[in-house]
Amino acid sequence: MTLEEAYHGIKKEIKFPRHEHCKKCDGTGAKNGTALKTCTTCNGQGQVVMANGFFRMAQTCPKCHGSGKNITEFCPECAGRGLTRITRTVEIKIPAGVDNDSQLRVRGEGEVGSGGNGDLFLFIKVKDHPLFERHGQDLKMDLPVSFAKAALGGEEKIKTLKEEVVMKIPEGTQSGKVFRMRGEGMPDVHGGHGFGDLYVRVMLAVPNNLNTRQRELMEELSRELGENNGKASLKDKFKKAFK
Ligand SMILES: [Zn+2]
Ligand SMILES: [Zn+2]
Repeated sequence: MTLEEAYHGIKKEIKFPRHEHCKKCDGTGAKNGTALKTCTTCNGQGQVVMANGFFRMAQTCPKCHGSGKNITEFCPECAGRGLTRITRTVEIKIPAGVDNDSQLRVRGEGEVGSGGNGDLFLFIKVKDHPLFERHGQDLKMDLPVSFAKAALGGEEKIKTLKEEVVMKIPEGTQSGKVFRMRGEGMPDVHGGHGFGDLYVRVMLAVPNNLNTRQRELMEELSRELGENNGKASLKDKFKKAFK
């Protein structure tokens, strides 16, 4: 499933192969209407006595498997097995917040046995997202910001999994700066811990293919900023350090 599906939780229809009691013979394995005959191996007792030295042990009859009766004519549908292979289709509700290797148990959708149907276990796989990287309940993303916006300050619209939010870019934001957006991460699959956070890392987008005028302006700005291009000069750093 996708990260969006994992965020919201979904109903998914799944198909899988399974055995079911043969409908034609009602799971008995005997051709419809034919009688069962008494097992000749155990004389209908369902048990046979095995002698082993001094010991005599009663064991389940291998021929009739303890029923005391054998099928005279096998059901043509299931060849006497009493089971048929089917493709089962079930709609499964997958809760919000599931992660890779989350395990989901669906009661009564497993193979048929003597005590009814077993359970079906689903292992969840969440696909990688092109924008968000998941770390438990938290999400991480890179946000390209223009040089001008990072220097002057401004806003960026971000489409999170929940909503569209406007993030403030403070004046003088450096490349690599991480902003935390509370509650914009993944929900807790058990519901107890609310939502994780979204960490947005600012990546400075350096302009390329400048036209002549843009180049002139950039050069003018560069001269104006001095040779350090806006970084605090070494002199200023010393001044601060020894104040
Ligand atoms: Zn059958
Ligand atoms: Zn028997």
